[in-house]
Amino acid sequence: MMYKKSIKEIEKIVKEELCLRCGTCVGICPKDAIIVNEDYYPYCPDYEICDDCGLCLKVCPGIEVNFPEIVKQTFGEIDYDYYSNGFFTKPYMGKTTNENILEKASSGGVVTQILDYLLNENIIQGAIVTTSCHDKPWKAKPILARKSDEILESAQSKYSVSPVNSLLKKLNGFDGKVAYVGLPCHIHGLKKAISLKRKLKDKIYIIIGLLCSTNVEEISTKDMLWASKIKEQDVKKIEFRKGDWPGKIGVKLKNGTQKELHHLSHKEGAFVFLTRLYPCNRCLYCIDASSEFADISVGDPWIKDEKGNYKYSGGWSLVIERTNKGKEVLSDIKSKNKLILKQIPENELFESNKTVLYTKKKTNSIRLDRAKKRGKIVPNYYIKLPNFTTKDLLIERFYSLTLMFRKSRFFQRLIIKLLVSNFGLILIYLKRFINRLIKINRQ
Ligand SMILES: Cc1cc2nc3c(=O)[nH]c(=O)nc-3n(C[C@H](O)[C@H](O)[C@H](O)COP(=O)(O)OP(=O)(O)OC[C@H]3O[C@@H](n4cnc5c(N)ncnc54)[C@H](O)[C@@H]3O)c2cc1C
Ligand code: SF4
Ligand code: SF4
Ligand code: SF4
Repeated sequence: MMYKKSIKEIEKIVKEELCLRCGTCVGICPKDAIIVNEDYYPYCPDYEICDDCGLCLKVCPGIEVNFPEIVKQTFGEIDYDYYSNGFFTKPYMGKTTNENILEKASSGGVVTQILDYLLNENIIQGAIVTTSCHDKPWKAKPILARKSDEILESAQSKYSVSPVNSLLKKLNGFDGKVAYVGLPCHIHGLKKAISLKRKLKDKIYIIIGLLCSTNVEEISTKDMLWASKIKEQDVKKIEFRKGDWPGKIGVKLKNGTQKELHHLSHKEGAFVFLTRLYPCNRCLYCIDASSEFADISVGDPWIKDEKGNYKYSGGWSLVIERTNKGKEVLSDIKSKNKLILKQIPENELFESNKTVLYTKKKTNSIRLDRAKKRGKIVPNYYIKLPNFTTKDLLIERFYSLTLMFRKSRFFQRLIIKLLVSNFGLILIYLKRFINRLIKINRQ
C-alpha cells in the first residue's frame, strides 16, 4: 500500500479527536478519495485513488483556522475584537410573517424565511441545509435543497453532527447559485475552501451562520429514547425544538402518537445536560460562538427582563447583520413584508449570547492552552489568547468537572434515566430555585 501523507495527517486529526466532522476534506477532494463513515468521520477506503495533492489537509478547520486571514478575506482591513461576537453592522430581532414557517422553525424562522424567499424569487437555485435522515430520525444529514418544501423540511435545529461541507463537491457542476447554512465550524472550513477554490465563492450567494454553544453526539437522543422506553424502530420523526419557543424535544411515533422526551424546555432542561454528557470532542476547543464569518448570523434570543422572564418570547430570532450582502438580503425581504426586523441595542446582543461567548472565548481557550502545554496537538487559531483571571481558571476547572461522565456509557445512561424521571424534574426545579436565590442575593 502506498504511503499518502495527507491522508495519514487526516487520520491523525481524527485519532487526536480534532475532527469536527464538517466534511470539508470530502467536499474538496478532486479524486473522491475520502468519504465519511456511519459516524461521519472521514476515511479513505482505497489509498490508490488519492494522488496526495494535499487539498484535504489544507482546508481542514479541525487542526487550524487562521482567524486574522479569514477576517481580512471577509471584512477587509478592520480592527477586529477576537473576544466578542465578531464584526457586525447591526443586530436585530427577527421573525418571519409566514405562520407555517414559524411553526416549524427553531426560533423566529428567519433562516428558513430567507432561503424560501431567495429560492422563490429565483435569486438562488438551491440551498445547502441540514435535514434529518428518514430511517434514523435522530441523525442529521446535509442536503442541497432545490425546492421550497425541502427547505421547509430542513427548518429547526438538529442537535446532531452534519458534515455540511461534504456537499461542496456538488457545486462543481451546479447550474446556479446557492445559499449556505452552517455552524461556525462549517463556515471555517468553507472559508478555507473558498480561499483555495475561488470558483466556490461565485457559487455561494450568501452564507448564513447559526450561533452555537456545542453540538452533541446523536447517541444522546438515542439514550433519551431508551430512557423514555421508546423503541428506535417506532420513531418516525424527532423535533428538537417542538412547540412554543424555546420548545421541547418531541417525538412522533409511526403509530401517530406524539411524546416529549423531557419535561422542560430545550434551554431549561435537557440540552444543558446533554452538552456536558455527550459533547462532540472538538467542540471543547471551539472559540467561535456566533458564526463570526457569516454574512448573517442567527440565534435564539436568550435575553431576560428585570423579572427574569424572557424578553422576546413567542418566536423571535436574534439576527446579526455582518456584511453588505447580509444587509441587502435582509432589507429586501423586510421590504416585501416577509420578515419583521427590529433593531436592538448592542448590549442586548451581548446579553443574549454572553454565557456561550464566555465559554468559547475564555473556558475553551483555557482548556486549549492547558492541553497545548501538556504537549497535546490542539487547533491553532493564530490569535493571542486573552488574559485569564483566577476566577476564569476556577470556572474552567468546574466546567471540566461537569464533563467527567462524558466518556462513560454507564453514567451517561444513568444520568439520562434520572433526567427524564419525575425525580429529575424536582432536581431541575431545585437548581432553578437556587439560581434565582443567588441572583436575588447579588442584586
Ligand atoms: C448544534 C446547534 C447549536 C446551537 N447553539 C445555539 C446557541 O448556543 N445559542 C443560540 O442562540 N443559538 C444556537 N443555535 C441556533 C438556534 O438553535 C437556531 O438554529 C437559530 O435560532 C435559528 O433559528 P431560525 O428559527 O431562524 O432557523 P430555522 O428557520 O429553524 O432554520 C434552521 C436552519 O438550521 C440548519 N441546521 C439545523 N441543524 C443543523 C446542524 N446540526 N448543522 C448545521 N445546520 C443545521 C437547517 O439547515 C436550517 O436551515 C444552535 C443550533 C445548532 C444546530
Ligand atoms: S490528498 Fe488530494 S486526492 Fe488525496 S484525499 Fe486529499 S484531497 Fe483527495
Ligand atoms: S476537514 Fe473537517 S471532516 Fe475533514 S478531517 Fe478536517 S475537521 Fe474532519
Ligand atoms: S461548538 Fe464549535 S465545533 Fe462544535 S458544533 Fe458548534 S461551531 Fe462546531
